[in-house]
Amino acid sequence: MSHLCIESQLLSKERQNVTFLIEELTNIWDGGKEETMIRRRVEKLFADDPELKSPPLCTMTRDEEFTEATRKSAYIYRHFIPKHKLYPSSRESKHLTSVLFRAQPLATNLFIHMGVFVYCIKTMGSDKQVAKWLQLAKNLNIIGTYAQTELGHGSFLRGLETQATYDRTTQEFVINCPQLSSMKWWPGDLGVNANHALVMANLIIDNKKYGMHAFIVQIRDLSTHKPLPGVSVGDIGNKFGLGSTDNGFLYLKNVRIPLENLLNKNAEVKPDGTYLKKASDRLVYGSMVNLRVSIPKQCTDVLAKACTIAIRYSGVRRQGLLKPDGAEVPILDYTLQQHKLIPQLATVYATNFAGLQIQKKYEVFLQNLSNDDISDLAELHALSASFKASVSEQGTEGVEVCRRACGGHGYSQASGLPSLLARVTPACTYEGENTVLYLQTARFLMKCASKKAKDLPKSVTFLVQPTQMMNINNVTSLDFIVHCFKSRATICVQAAAKRLQQTMGQGVEINEAWNKNAVELVKAAKAYVMQFIVDGFTTFVKGLKCSKPTKKIFEDLCSLYGLHFINNNSGDFLKLGIITAHHCNLAEEAEIELLGKLRPNAVGIVDAFDFSDFSLDSCLGAYDGNVYERLFDMAKLSPLNKEQVHQASYKYLRPYLLEGRDILEGSKSKL
Ligand SMILES: Cc1cc2nc3c(=O)[nH]c(=O)nc-3n(C[C@H](O)[C@H](O)[C@H](O)COP(=O)(O)OP(=O)(O)OC[C@H]3O[C@@H](n4cnc5c(N)ncnc54)[C@H](O)[C@@H]3O)c2cc1C
Repeated sequence: MSHLCIESQLLSKERQNVTFLIEELTNIWDGGKEETMIRRRVEKLFADDPELKSPPLCTMTRDEEFTEATRKSAYIYRHFIPKHKLYPSSRESKHLTSVLFRAQPLATNLFIHMGVFVYCIKTMGSDKQVAKWLQLAKNLNIIGTYAQTELGHGSFLRGLETQATYDRTTQEFVINCPQLSSMKWWPGDLGVNANHALVMANLIIDNKKYGMHAFIVQIRDLSTHKPLPGVSVGDIGNKFGLGSTDNGFLYLKNVRIPLENLLNKNAEVKPDGTYLKKASDRLVYGSMVNLRVSIPKQCTDVLAKACTIAIRYSGVRRQGLLKPDGAEVPILDYTLQQHKLIPQLATVYATNFAGLQIQKKYEVFLQNLSNDDISDLAELHALSASFKASVSEQGTEGVEVCRRACGGHGYSQASGLPSLLARVTPACTYEGENTVLYLQTARFLMKCASKKAKDLPKSVTFLVQPTQMMNINNVTSLDFIVHCFKSRATICVQAAAKRLQQTMGQGVEINEAWNKNAVELVKAAKAYVMQFIVDGFTTFVKGLKCSKPTKKIFEDLCSLYGLHFINNNSGDFLKLGIITAHHCNLAEEAEIELLGKLRPNAVGIVDAFDFSDFSLDSCLGAYDGNVYERLFDMAKLSPLNKEQVHQASYKYLRPYLLEGRDILEGSKSKL
């Protein structure tokens, strides 16, 4: 690709028109100049290592994708990390997880092993258990999974059926899935790779149930890797995506494990069968928050990749004219294309920088926790649950918008967009199904609504205070936008609380009343988290110290994020009396104006994410814009093109094709 094709020239021109310093934006995105340097250093280690090269994802079968992912994961954890000393204490290791997600096209696996199994041992195991299991797991001497969900139940934890019955005579637990629906189903890394499972099961001692507890169960032989007696295990089959991970099933029949395999930091069973509770269940929520804080960041990074691909492609894809006798224009010049894509860019920024506020709250919570103070837990749990739900939803919707905005080529795996969609959408389901998470947030909000402002954490007092319409003509003002979102949250929360009270006042039992008003309750939770995102991003932007042109980008993206949402939900804001029809008109005009302002910088803004071509793995999104040559080169790699004549055509169609030949050649000879 030596010549500079017209598409590459178009992208170069886009870059010449950028009005801010791309590197400055990259530094802010990374959290500082030094962080950018370290991230690049770590990403380069990945990109330069021949062991971490793989064929393009779109040319692989599921089996090849899984095998590659396992090969690379084993290499990363056993060779790459020690070789480059990327240990948890190093500053570089901070970038390791993000690198695994953002800098590589092909997902690795062993995330449930490394991220959840190891984490649970650390946080739920006693010192003795940590000493026994942790290093083995970190070294991949054992591979574990986190087996909670069953075929018949996921969200409703009390519905889980797997049992761990204590046998005092042998001092063992007997693990059983009583029926088909109790089989563990979905756990990552389970189907093929795991030889241990952290099984969540109902503890039973002397016929008394003690609820869900975590048990380490060996499921495969340590030398042959064959399933142990009583264990039926395997992969659940192809999914929407994530072919790299062996989500599995696990059916346990009278599998015996020693007493010491109950992770017993928080609760213990003594040899004589005495049950001892050592810590509050609320602490378990604390560890769930940790996982939920990391998922939104992954979703944001996926959307950032999709924006990079779609915006670069829109800068080089020419389709149609804006002047009857002018040249064809790049589709990014169309207001409608800007209206699809630039708000997605704003979403990436809003969710990323609002996420930092949750991270900060989480760090404060951990500090307080060390003094046994868990007073922030309820708010943090409510916030992290709805934030995970909202960001995964916005990410999924945004990636699909980007995919469709690329027309036909967006449907091709070679664009990289289908695999990004397949990567982000399960985040709406795992680690808490989104609707169920919103309902948990609503529970917190309803408690807040029943209290006085003085009895609430400062950050949520606005929910019980009266709202007022703000009379303003400058609808791009960040104060106005934050005010709109806060008012909406307050009104929605108070309305849901009132309805709930009214329903219960009619003698309806609480669960039924909750169900009757669930749509309102989820709406309140969504309004609450949206105000948090808008407020969090605004706070970040206001406090940001940087050059004027860069600050302007942030301010415009921040206004755009708020206004795009207000315009898409204007009926709601009007109905709730937060804005007037006049505001609506102004907001619509202001959004179009903002799109026009941001358009010349759109390519620069996505460049600032600093994704390598290697990590994007997209024919449409590469830095040089040489889209068509890449698409053609990729098509040549299609497994269907391996031979000039494919077996399928030869085997199934040839007889009819020969008939066709005879008819055509016969009619020719008659002429
Ligand atoms: C890619 C992937 C990886 C996973 N990895 C793991 C893993 O490693 N380990 C593990 O244990 N599990 C794993 N899971 C399972 C996952 O945690 C569950 O799928 C998830 O918790 C949702 O539960 P469910 O499937 O039972 O959905 P359901 O709860 O059956 O949801 C189905 C529908 O019912 C609705 N619904 C459910 N309850 C309510 C309610 N109270 N009120 C209103 N509506 C409701 C939901 O909103 C949804 O629309 C994974 C799943 C996926 C997709």
